[in-house]
Amino acid sequence: MENKAVILENLRHIYARIENACIKVGRNKEDVRLLLATKTQDADTIKIVLDAGEKLIGENKVQEYTEKWEELKDYNIERHFIGHLQTNKIKEIIKYVTCIESVDRIDLAQKLSAKLVSENKTIEIYIEVNTSEEDSKSGVAPENAIELIQQIIALPNIQITGLMTIGKPSENPEDTRFCFQILRKLKEEAQAQNLLPQNCALSMGMSHDLEVAIEEGSTIVRVGSAIFGNRNYAR
Ligand SMILES: *Cc1c(COP(=O)(O)O)cnc(C)c1O
Repeated sequence: MENKAVILENLRHIYARIENACIKVGRNKEDVRLLLATKTQDADTIKIVLDAGEKLIGENKVQEYTEKWEELKDYNIERHFIGHLQTNKIKEIIKYVTCIESVDRIDLAQKLSAKLVSENKTIEIYIEVNTSEEDSKSGVAPENAIELIQQIIALPNIQITGLMTIGKPSENPEDTRFCFQILRKLKEEAQAQNLLPQNCALSMGMSHDLEVAIEEGSTIVRVGSAIFGNRNYAR
Protein backbone atom coordinates (compact mmCIF):
# COMPACT_ATOMS: atom_id res chain seq x y z
CA MET A 1 0.00 0.00 0.00
CA GLU A 2 1.22 3.45 -0.92
CA ASN A 3 1.70 6.11 1.70
CA LYS A 4 -1.70 7.57 2.53
CA ALA A 5 -0.48 11.09 3.23
CA VAL A 6 1.34 11.22 -0.10
CA ILE A 7 -1.72 10.07 -2.01
CA LEU A 8 -3.97 12.60 -0.30
CA GLU A 9 -1.46 15.36 -1.01
CA ASN A 10 -1.30 14.27 -4.65
CA LEU A 11 -5.10 14.32 -4.80
CA ARG A 12 -5.20 17.90 -3.51
CA HIS A 13 -2.65 18.86 -6.12
CA ILE A 14 -4.84 17.37 -8.87
CA TYR A 15 -7.87 19.32 -7.59
CA ALA A 16 -5.79 22.50 -7.83
CA ARG A 17 -4.62 21.68 -11.35
CA ILE A 18 -8.21 21.02 -12.47
CA GLU A 19 -9.43 24.22 -10.87
CA ASN A 20 -6.65 26.34 -12.36
CA ALA A 21 -7.24 24.95 -15.85
CA CYS A 22 -10.95 25.71 -15.50
CA ILE A 23 -10.27 29.25 -14.33
CA LYS A 24 -7.98 29.83 -17.30
CA VAL A 25 -10.78 29.14 -19.81
CA GLY A 26 -13.75 30.32 -17.74
CA ARG A 27 -15.24 26.91 -16.98
CA ASN A 28 -16.77 25.71 -13.71
CA LYS A 29 -14.63 23.18 -11.90
CA GLU A 30 -17.80 21.22 -11.12
CA ASP A 31 -18.11 20.49 -14.84
CA VAL A 32 -14.94 18.40 -14.86
CA ARG A 33 -15.07 15.04 -13.12
CA LEU A 34 -12.07 13.12 -11.86
CA LEU A 35 -11.84 9.44 -12.75
CA LEU A 36 -9.25 7.53 -10.76
CA ALA A 37 -7.33 5.24 -13.10
CA THR A 38 -6.73 2.44 -10.61
CA LYS A 39 -4.92 -0.18 -12.67
CA THR A 40 -2.26 -2.08 -10.68
CA GLN A 41 -3.40 -0.42 -7.41
CA ASP A 42 -4.63 -2.70 -4.64
CA ALA A 43 -7.99 -2.27 -2.95
CA ASP A 44 -6.51 -0.68 0.20
CA THR A 45 -4.80 1.98 -1.89
CA ILE A 46 -8.00 2.68 -3.85
CA LYS A 47 -9.93 2.99 -0.58
CA ILE A 48 -7.73 5.92 0.43
CA VAL A 49 -9.17 8.05 -2.37
CA LEU A 50 -12.70 6.70 -2.03
CA ASP A 51 -12.69 7.49 1.68
CA ALA A 52 -11.56 11.00 0.70
CA GLY A 53 -14.84 11.35 -1.20
CA GLU A 54 -13.96 10.31 -4.74
CA LYS A 55 -16.80 8.66 -6.65
CA LEU A 56 -15.51 7.39 -9.98
CA ILE A 57 -12.92 4.75 -10.80
CA GLY A 58 -11.79 3.11 -14.03
CA GLU A 59 -9.98 -0.15 -14.61
CA ASN A 60 -8.33 -1.37 -17.79
CA LYS A 61 -8.54 -5.08 -17.17
CA VAL A 62 -11.62 -7.10 -16.38
CA GLN A 63 -9.56 -9.28 -14.07
CA GLU A 64 -8.68 -6.32 -11.85
CA TYR A 65 -12.37 -5.68 -11.19
CA THR A 66 -12.84 -9.37 -10.41
CA GLU A 67 -9.91 -9.40 -7.98
CA LYS A 68 -10.84 -6.21 -6.11
CA TRP A 69 -14.61 -6.62 -6.19
CA GLU A 70 -15.20 -8.07 -2.73
CA GLU A 71 -13.33 -5.24 -1.05
CA LEU A 72 -14.84 -2.41 -3.08
CA LYS A 73 -18.37 -3.54 -3.78
CA ASP A 74 -19.95 -1.71 -0.85
CA TYR A 75 -18.74 1.71 -2.02
CA ASN A 76 -21.44 3.75 -3.70
CA ILE A 77 -19.33 4.78 -6.67
CA GLU A 78 -19.40 4.67 -10.44
CA ARG A 79 -17.17 2.14 -12.11
CA HIS A 80 -16.03 2.57 -15.68
CA PHE A 81 -14.07 0.29 -17.93
CA ILE A 82 -11.34 2.11 -19.86
CA GLY A 83 -9.20 -0.66 -21.39
CA HIS A 84 -9.34 -2.76 -24.51
CA LEU A 85 -12.32 -5.09 -24.19
CA GLN A 86 -12.34 -8.54 -25.74
CA THR A 87 -15.76 -9.89 -26.63
CA ASN A 88 -15.21 -13.02 -24.50
CA LYS A 89 -15.00 -10.79 -21.41
CA ILE A 90 -18.36 -9.06 -21.91
CA LYS A 91 -20.28 -11.39 -19.62
CA GLU A 92 -17.83 -10.75 -16.77
CA ILE A 93 -17.40 -6.99 -17.12
CA ILE A 94 -21.10 -6.14 -17.09
CA LYS A 95 -21.28 -7.49 -13.54
CA TYR A 96 -19.08 -4.63 -12.36
CA VAL A 97 -19.40 -1.49 -14.43
CA THR A 98 -21.91 1.27 -15.11
CA CYS A 99 -20.12 2.47 -18.24
CA ILE A 100 -17.71 1.07 -20.82
CA GLU A 101 -15.63 3.95 -22.22
CA SER A 102 -13.72 1.90 -24.76
CA VAL A 103 -16.27 0.75 -27.35
CA ASP A 104 -14.56 1.09 -30.71
CA ARG A 105 -16.07 -1.47 -33.08
CA ILE A 106 -19.46 -2.67 -34.15
CA ASP A 107 -19.02 -6.37 -33.36
CA LEU A 108 -18.18 -5.50 -29.75
CA ALA A 109 -21.24 -3.23 -29.49
CA GLN A 110 -23.52 -5.86 -31.01
CA LYS A 111 -22.35 -8.60 -28.67
CA LEU A 112 -22.55 -6.28 -25.69
CA SER A 113 -26.08 -5.24 -26.62
CA ALA A 114 -27.21 -8.83 -27.12
CA LYS A 115 -25.80 -9.91 -23.76
CA LEU A 116 -27.45 -6.97 -21.97
CA VAL A 117 -30.80 -7.73 -23.60
CA SER A 118 -30.57 -11.33 -22.39
CA GLU A 119 -29.84 -10.12 -18.87
CA ASN A 120 -32.41 -7.32 -18.99
CA LYS A 121 -29.78 -4.68 -18.14
CA THR A 122 -28.79 -1.36 -19.70
CA ILE A 123 -25.44 0.39 -19.50
CA GLU A 124 -23.82 3.54 -20.81
CA ILE A 125 -21.00 3.41 -23.30
CA TYR A 126 -18.56 5.92 -24.71
CA ILE A 127 -17.04 5.61 -28.15
CA GLU A 128 -13.24 5.46 -28.03
CA VAL A 129 -11.62 7.41 -30.85
CA ASN A 130 -8.03 6.96 -31.98
CA THR A 131 -7.34 10.66 -32.38
CA SER A 132 -3.58 10.22 -32.71
CA GLU A 133 -4.10 7.64 -35.49
CA GLU A 134 -1.21 5.52 -34.25
CA ASP A 135 -1.60 1.93 -35.45
CA SER A 136 -0.86 0.57 -31.99
CA LYS A 137 -3.80 2.35 -30.38
CA SER A 138 -7.31 1.10 -29.95
CA GLY A 139 -10.19 3.35 -30.91
CA VAL A 140 -12.15 3.99 -34.08
CA ALA A 141 -10.49 6.25 -36.66
CA PRO A 142 -11.98 9.78 -36.48
CA GLU A 143 -13.29 9.59 -40.04
CA ASN A 144 -15.27 6.44 -39.20
CA ALA A 145 -16.60 7.55 -35.83
CA ILE A 146 -19.89 9.11 -36.97
CA GLU A 147 -20.81 6.01 -38.94
CA LEU A 148 -20.03 3.78 -35.95
CA ILE A 149 -22.19 5.98 -33.71
CA GLN A 150 -25.05 5.74 -36.21
CA GLN A 151 -24.81 1.94 -36.21
CA ILE A 152 -24.58 1.62 -32.44
CA ILE A 153 -27.47 3.99 -31.74
CA ALA A 154 -29.81 1.45 -33.31
CA LEU A 155 -28.81 -1.25 -30.80
CA PRO A 156 -30.95 -1.89 -27.71
CA ASN A 157 -29.82 -1.70 -24.05
CA ILE A 158 -26.71 0.40 -24.65
CA GLN A 159 -26.71 4.19 -24.60
CA ILE A 160 -23.93 6.31 -26.02
CA THR A 161 -23.35 9.10 -23.52
CA GLY A 162 -19.79 10.15 -24.29
CA LEU A 163 -16.61 10.02 -26.34
CA MET A 164 -13.19 8.99 -25.07
CA THR A 165 -9.64 9.32 -26.34
CA ILE A 166 -6.15 8.69 -25.02
CA GLY A 167 -4.31 11.18 -27.18
CA LYS A 168 -0.79 11.18 -28.52
CA PRO A 169 1.86 10.59 -25.86
CA SER A 170 4.28 13.50 -25.88
CA GLU A 171 6.79 15.33 -23.75
CA ASN A 172 4.97 18.59 -24.29
CA PRO A 173 1.21 18.42 -23.62
CA GLU A 174 0.69 21.09 -26.28
CA ASP A 175 1.59 18.43 -28.84
CA THR A 176 -1.47 16.44 -27.74
CA ARG A 177 -3.90 19.35 -28.04
CA PHE A 178 -4.89 18.48 -31.61
CA CYS A 179 -6.17 15.07 -30.39
CA PHE A 180 -8.49 16.71 -27.89
CA GLN A 181 -9.67 19.14 -30.55
CA ILE A 182 -10.54 16.25 -32.86
CA LEU A 183 -12.64 14.65 -30.13
CA ARG A 184 -14.46 17.88 -29.31
CA LYS A 185 -15.23 18.56 -32.97
CA LEU A 186 -16.55 15.04 -33.39
CA LYS A 187 -18.83 15.57 -30.43
CA GLU A 188 -20.14 18.81 -31.91
CA GLU A 189 -20.66 17.21 -35.31
CA ALA A 190 -22.55 14.25 -33.83
CA GLN A 191 -24.65 16.53 -31.64
CA ALA A 192 -25.55 18.65 -34.67
CA GLN A 193 -26.91 15.45 -36.23
CA ASN A 194 -28.76 14.58 -33.02
CA LEU A 195 -26.66 11.45 -32.57
CA LEU A 196 -25.36 12.38 -29.12
CA PRO A 197 -27.05 14.01 -26.13
CA GLN A 198 -26.40 17.68 -25.32
CA ASN A 199 -24.66 16.67 -22.07
CA CYS A 200 -22.41 14.19 -23.89
CA ALA A 201 -19.26 13.43 -21.87
CA LEU A 202 -15.77 14.02 -23.23
CA SER A 203 -13.35 11.70 -21.43
CA MET A 204 -9.90 13.05 -22.22
CA GLY A 205 -6.80 14.15 -20.36
CA MET A 206 -4.51 12.16 -18.06
CA SER A 207 -1.86 12.93 -15.43
CA HIS A 208 0.44 14.61 -17.89
CA ASP A 209 -1.95 16.57 -20.10
CA LEU A 210 -5.17 17.23 -18.18
CA GLU A 211 -4.87 21.02 -18.40
CA VAL A 212 -4.81 21.03 -22.19
CA ALA A 213 -7.73 18.57 -22.26
CA ILE A 214 -9.79 20.78 -19.94
CA GLU A 215 -9.03 23.79 -22.10
CA GLU A 216 -10.44 21.82 -25.03
CA GLY A 217 -13.63 20.87 -23.22
CA SER A 218 -12.91 17.66 -21.29
CA THR A 219 -15.62 16.68 -18.81
CA ILE A 220 -13.77 13.67 -17.35
CA VAL A 221 -10.04 13.54 -16.73
CA ARG A 222 -8.61 10.07 -16.06
CA VAL A 223 -5.72 10.27 -13.62
CA GLY A 224 -3.51 7.48 -12.32
CA SER A 225 0.19 8.06 -11.77
CA ALA A 226 -0.09 11.69 -10.61
CA ILE A 227 -2.14 10.43 -7.65
CA PHE A 228 -0.89 6.91 -6.98
CA GLY A 229 2.72 7.30 -8.11
CA ASN A 230 4.43 5.26 -10.77
CA ARG A 231 2.77 1.94 -11.48
CA ASN A 232 4.43 -1.31 -10.49
CA TYR A 233 3.37 -3.84 -13.10
CA ALA A 234 5.51 -6.56 -11.53
CA ARG A 235 3.29 -6.77 -8.47
C1 LIG B 1 -3.62 4.33 -17.15
C2 LIG B 1 -4.65 5.11 -17.91
C3 LIG B 1 -4.91 6.45 -17.59
C4 LIG B 1 -4.15 7.21 -16.53
O1 LIG B 1 -2.85 7.44 -16.95
P1 LIG B 1 -1.84 8.31 -16.04
O2 LIG B 1 -0.86 8.83 -17.02
O3 LIG B 1 -1.25 7.36 -15.06
O4 LIG B 1 -2.63 9.36 -15.40
C5 LIG B 1 -5.91 7.09 -18.30
N1 LIG B 1 -6.60 6.47 -19.27
C6 LIG B 1 -6.37 5.20 -19.62
C7 LIG B 1 -7.17 4.58 -20.69
C8 LIG B 1 -5.38 4.49 -18.95
O5 LIG B 1 -5.13 3.23 -19.31
